[in-house]
Amino acid sequence: MSDKETLGANDAKWLDSYKNVHMNVFGTPLRVMDHGQGTRIWDVDGNEYLDFLGGIAVNALGYAHPAWVKAIAEQAAKVGHTSNYFATEPQIELASKLIELAEAPEGSHVYFGNSGAEGNEAAIKLAKLYGRTLHGALPDIGGKPARILAMTHGFHGRTLGALSATWKPVIRKQFEPLVPAVEFVEAGNVESLQRAFNETGLGRYGKGPVAAVIMELIQGEAGVVPLGADYVKAARELCDRNNALLIIDEVQTGIGRTGEWFAFQREDLSGGVIPDAITFAKGVAGGFPMGGLIAFGEKLSSLFTPGSHGSTFAGNPLGAAAALATLKTIEDDDLLANVEARGKQLRDGLAALDNPLYGEVRGRGLLDAVQLSHPCAHAVAGWALEHGLIVNAVAPNALRFAPPLIVSEQDVDECLNVLAKVPTDLPND
Ligand SMILES: *Cc1c(COP(=O)(O)O)cnc(C)c1O
Repeated sequence: MSDKETLGANDAKWLDSYKNVHMNVFGTPLRVMDHGQGTRIWDVDGNEYLDFLGGIAVNALGYAHPAWVKAIAEQAAKVGHTSNYFATEPQIELASKLIELAEAPEGSHVYFGNSGAEGNEAAIKLAKLYGRTLHGALPDIGGKPARILAMTHGFHGRTLGALSATWKPVIRKQFEPLVPAVEFVEAGNVESLQRAFNETGLGRYGKGPVAAVIMELIQGEAGVVPLGADYVKAARELCDRNNALLIIDEVQTGIGRTGEWFAFQREDLSGGVIPDAITFAKGVAGGFPMGGLIAFGEKLSSLFTPGSHGSTFAGNPLGAAAALATLKTIEDDDLLANVEARGKQLRDGLAALDNPLYGEVRGRGLLDAVQLSHPCAHAVAGWALEHGLIVNAVAPNALRFAPPLIVSEQDVDECLNVLAKVPTDLPND
């Protein structure tokens, strides 16, 4: 079944125009959207969809949440941008709030960027400075560069630095050579990590020291796969023993998505490990582009000095106001409890579906996935879309769910009802 055949006339017209003027990096969008409200969004033909993707874990408060709209509108009427020659109140308040929510130690500092990739770019640059200062790795005068270890199946973004730490060969290989001295270890395998650390040494065959290990606690783009608390604990110990930073990419898992403010605060994901730095983006400003890095503690935070990093839009007041409204609403409406309850309802409901299409269910909070009996995830997501439900084909044989954190009990039931009816004989993608 092609989506195109059932597209409304306005959708079809706009999508033709889209293709004429956009570089084809995303394929053809499924629909052209017009407006949303809460967990619902309407396309330009007036069709309504229940959104269980939430702009890929971004729209924490759903669409057009009054607190979010008001915050942006009021800020826009005051000052919308200043450059970093000047600061604004919301930006300063937001940095303090994020440090507080992350329970980061005294002396921790924030760097703001505009996306997840930019948060990770900052983290990678910080790791490089750390390698130079702590390990004396000075490649510019002939030394061995300090290494950064990343996980197989990990995803950190598509800018060249972040891409260097991103696993998927089809999106990485054609752009090599990328940032040197970024290496992959097998996700979840302690021996693989230990081996990489052991390669540090003098002489011809010894490599540079490891400056940092970067990981997601739940590998979102890989299909919502938790790394495992025992592994994370072992990684922390190896980092400590070797003076390496542990950087946790919370771009997808952060801002309440897993039921805590950050995934590392969940014992069952982190084993209680405290990272040296975290990156954030997606949900932080509820749909306004914003991302960044929190370095834990004074020492690491002070490695960046004027000129070593920056961005014109960094800490933009509209984004900061949107983020403050998002965080405040999550707190005031006790949405972390809703995430936990609705996540459980969703996973239990998926596991109980009487349809042979569905297999293993995994995830935490409202970042979840279900395995499919055969590689038909696009066909299933396409069928669901035709029936008013947005879900994501995150892998050929897995569906991902990342609805707004405001999702209701009835919304989850409605999602499950649509999924229950998906035909079992959909063709492979
Ligand atoms: C989405 C994502 C990124 C990249 O974020 P962008 O805003 O698309 O640059 C990085 N890391 C993780 C874990 C992500 O899920």
